[in-house]
Amino acid sequence: MKIGFLGLGIMGRPMALNTLKAGHEVVVWARRAESMLPLAEAGARIATSPAEVARQVDVVISMVADAPDVEQVMLGENGVASGAQAGLVAVDMSTIAPSAAKDIAAKMKARGIEFVDAPVSGGEVGAIAGTLSIMAGGSEAAFARAKPAFECMGKNIVHIGDSGAGQVAKACNQIMTGMGVMAVAEALCFASKAGANPAKVREALLGGFAYSKILENHGQRMIDRNFKPGFKSWMHQKDLNIVMQSAHELGLMLPGSAMTAQMFNAMVGSGLGEEDSIAVLKLLENPSGQQ
Ligand code: NAP
Repeated sequence: MKIGFLGLGIMGRPMALNTLKAGHEVVVWARRAESMLPLAEAGARIATSPAEVARQVDVVISMVADAPDVEQVMLGENGVASGAQAGLVAVDMSTIAPSAAKDIAAKMKARGIEFVDAPVSGGEVGAIAGTLSIMAGGSEAAFARAKPAFECMGKNIVHIGDSGAGQVAKACNQIMTGMGVMAVAEALCFASKAGANPAKVREALLGGFAYSKILENHGQRMIDRNFKPGFKSWMHQKDLNIVMQSAHELGLMLPGSAMTAQMFNAMVGSGLGEEDSIAVLKLLENPSGQQ
């Protein structure tokens, strides 16, 4: 199968590499040429625009940042829509608002292109290992066509429903991971302040009902004070903003998410936006973010 990849950041690079390793022909594009080098060295063809990628592949995947970026690479100048051949399936795996995914799907459909929203969970570790959870929205037929590409990148691949449904599932994921990161950071901060060894507290909690992957992986990174991104704080702020915006549209009360969103606002405001979302620990240790 011929697979195109647009956006080669923390997640996109290993995801594209895994499609190559699985034996597919891969064509990549990124807006900075140096981002494409590792893929070219591994055997991918490089292209000069999303349109040029679209002309050469069966399935084109974007992994960028937010809705305006997806709109740009799919429908903008030299975007996927301007190079698409009959039968192309376009997939976006970034995290964007469900309403934006539906809107882009409708615009792509008007250009004769099937669009699938297929955001992921599992972080950089899951992207490298090819064990992401993939939650998809779109037609059954388009999902089936994209599935061989998904199988190179993920293990738990679920077709949730129509356009936008994948992003609804991802928003649910971000509600839980946002609060989860905050819970682990609060517990480890409390442990230190109360005079207990946070590493020992984590070890004990891993055996009980407080166990979570977040405690296991992110908890260890908090103890190691390894704030190198994985998942940048400003991205988590973006995702909680999607949740709060959607809750507003639905007239829904989400008090825990609202509080977590405030936390990520404060992280970005205090200069922690480019650090991993686990740097929420630093904010708790120094609440106003001031020196
Ligand atoms: P990242 O490292 O910042 O990568 C994003 C890439 O998209 C960058 O290389 C960026 O290019 C490119 N990009 C952004 N806007 C673009 C545009 N308008 N045109 C062309 N390229 C554009 O972020 P990431 O962590 O890989 O995250 C990517 C997406 O996955 C986000 O939606 C995020 O919420 C989601 N996600 C991330 C994780 C995680 O753990 N990191 C997990 C699940 C989902 P430049 O390099 O030129 O800036």
